[in-house]
Amino acid sequence: MEHCRNTSRRESLLKPKAVVILSGGLDSTTCMGIAKTQGYEVHALTFNYGQRHQIELQKAKQVAEHYQAADHRVVKLDFLKQIGGSALTDMDLTVPTTGVGEDIPVTYVPGRNFMFLSMAASYAEVIGATAIFMGVNALDYSGYPDCRPEFIHAVQEALRVGTKAGVEGHPIAVETPLLHWTKAEIIKKGMELEVPYHLTTSCYLGEEEACGECDSCRLRLKGFAEAGYTDPVLYKKH
Ligand SMILES: [Zn+2]
Repeated sequence: MEHCRNTSRRESLLKPKAVVILSGGLDSTTCMGIAKTQGYEVHALTFNYGQRHQIELQKAKQVAEHYQAADHRVVKLDFLKQIGGSALTDMDLTVPTTGVGEDIPVTYVPGRNFMFLSMAASYAEVIGATAIFMGVNALDYSGYPDCRPEFIHAVQEALRVGTKAGVEGHPIAVETPLLHWTKAEIIKKGMELEVPYHLTTSCYLGEEEACGECDSCRLRLKGFAEAGYTDPVLYKKH
């Protein structure tokens, strides 16, 4: 037992560290699988921002345990709930079930990914992580501006000039491996890496059984169908 602990301590000294922004959803869990496969010691970071789908937090915990994360921090971020302005944080707004259109949907949370990345960067600097993994996706992304490559590149640049790590010549890398993949491609990769999709949740309504009708459920179901797999989570209807 003692020997095992020493071995694992030695191993952890050799591994680069990564902060993985983990929501407990399909994309961030796939990202976690990719970071592990790439040999990182993973430090999971989850945000409790008053999201309607609080069940995410339990799922994130299970995913972090599954991947034996070196650490899992759940950050309480009340501000996004206080200001509202999104159907995910304001219970008076309705989650749309009409499918993805041209406009930015009401499920967009103002500034969310900007805040998440900046907090992940703070954490990465403190623990000496060389990368931040985030499961943003620019194709099947529901139309959120903070899921686009332009935004990710801009954040990368901000971290290069605005952090100690960046100024000292080793900026923290923002890794977004899913950025240009379709949902089906993400799922295919995840199945290959044995990502525990049964532990994940995607439904915006946040109940144990997914609704099967919100935009997030639709994207997920379409992805599994196109990838040729059956989604292991339960649905009320689809
Ligand atoms: Zn749903």
